[in-house]
Amino acid sequence: MNALNFINGVFVDATDGQTLTNLNPATGQTIGTIARSKDSDVEEAVKAAASAQEAWSSLDMLERATWLDRLADGLEARKEELAHRESRDTGKPLALARRVDAQRSIDNFRFFADFARNQEPEVFEMRDATNFVHRNPVGTVGLITPWNLPLYLLSWKVAPALLMGNTVVAKPSELTPLTANLMCEVASEIGLPSGVLNVVHGYGPEVGQAILDHPSIRAISFTGGTATGRHVAASAAPMFKKLSLELGGKNATIILDDADLDVAVNGALRAGFTNGGQVCLCGSRILVHASIAEKFTSKLIQLVDEMICGSPEDESTQIGALISQEHMEKVESYIQLGIEEGGNVLTGGTREMTGQVGPSPEGAFLRPTVIDGLQHTSRTATEEIFGPVVTIHRFESDEEAIEIANSTEYGLAGSIWSNDTDRAHKIAQKIQTGIVWVNTWLHRDLRTPFGGVKNSGLGREGGAWSLGFFSEPLNVCIKHD
Ligand code: NAD
Repeated sequence: MNALNFINGVFVDATDGQTLTNLNPATGQTIGTIARSKDSDVEEAVKAAASAQEAWSSLDMLERATWLDRLADGLEARKEELAHRESRDTGKPLALARRVDAQRSIDNFRFFADFARNQEPEVFEMRDATNFVHRNPVGTVGLITPWNLPLYLLSWKVAPALLMGNTVVAKPSELTPLTANLMCEVASEIGLPSGVLNVVHGYGPEVGQAILDHPSIRAISFTGGTATGRHVAASAAPMFKKLSLELGGKNATIILDDADLDVAVNGALRAGFTNGGQVCLCGSRILVHASIAEKFTSKLIQLVDEMICGSPEDESTQIGALISQEHMEKVESYIQLGIEEGGNVLTGGTREMTGQVGPSPEGAFLRPTVIDGLQHTSRTATEEIFGPVVTIHRFESDEEAIEIANSTEYGLAGSIWSNDTDRAHKIAQKIQTGIVWVNTWLHRDLRTPFGGVKNSGLGREGGAWSLGFFSEPLNVCIKHD
């Protein structure tokens, strides 16, 4: 299956005909080719977007909400195919792709459509005047997204961008192009006006850079790694483009001494290893109160050892393949670093599989790994690994837990596990981060702000925050007698 660009409502090759190879990381086999686009392709996409802009933005927001519903319906009708494409591109378990990626991609469109219907006019009365706040579109916006939750994260940007009357030039990760194309197929099937949604595929430094540099693209919404985010900011800021950056994380899972141990262990397991640890929100640093550390660790190891790690197509698989051989080698190099830094690998660290359907030897499979005995300031414990690796650290007091949690350059998310929710709430407010869950993890109300502090990003997505980013407020102040 080849991934072509979608420009002005038509699937096209890159203008110079170049392609990349798309591999299934669970088998090492070729899925198809991907258009390797350049500046000239971005130029075509921007032209298409510009010519669609006026008609699209002149629709009422509620009409655009109806288009989002149609996109959701179209994706829902092809949900199983969506999950299969996501699983083949990423190597993640099909069951996970169905439950999380496919469902959330549909939900993102439905959520923003409903959210639009609940918007109230923004009017501010003065004694002698009335202020009306209008939300104008920004124009053509550039959306750049990573490989870990491909359509989930892309649709999270496309839906509010379209809703607010913008036209879109999107670049999915070059590792996972297939579901962005499924969205475009749906757009075509439902007759979404041509040029409103454009997708250009290819490498970041080629097509991504062309999006950053294009003067007619007035906002960049980027999700990806912190190093890339720094480059994105440096490229876009001198042109005063609006900028939203959702970047890396190294999140703490904090287990207090009064936690329900079974609930906490299961929570830490889910936070640590969902999607093979390849979620920006994953709790890769487990901070556990010293008084329960031994019990907690032995229960955790038992559960980790029971995890089924193998073929994405096997419904019982909990951990599929990592995104690529190169990424697996990077994760392995961090496990090696952990050993060099004085850590003990309590379990995992090998490529051994347990799945019923034997995975291919060419697949990027790595067992979930738990490392103990590291300084919380070590590189292994503070740098983002983005794989199935957690480190365990002990603390004696709430203050010490907060200090350890805050001792990284990142500040995206975290979770606290305790039977005393007041105590947990107090601790949560002292953690330098964008999101803290108490006795849960990745529990999302899409109206709430999502995003990070420090090197985890700039700005927030979700509900009103997304509508704010994808619009320019215009205040009209009318004097009356
Ligand atoms: P990445 O930064 O390598 O790539 C992200 C996107 O940027 C890709 O589409 C890539 O092609 C593009 N890109 C690369 N170089 C570019 C350039 N010079 N100009 C423009 N675009 C460029 O990230 P990744 O490896 O795809 O994803 C993993 C990272 O994403 C992790 O760090 C993870 O924490 C982060 N992430 C963050 C969130 C969040 O919401 N904060 C969500 C998911 C993933």
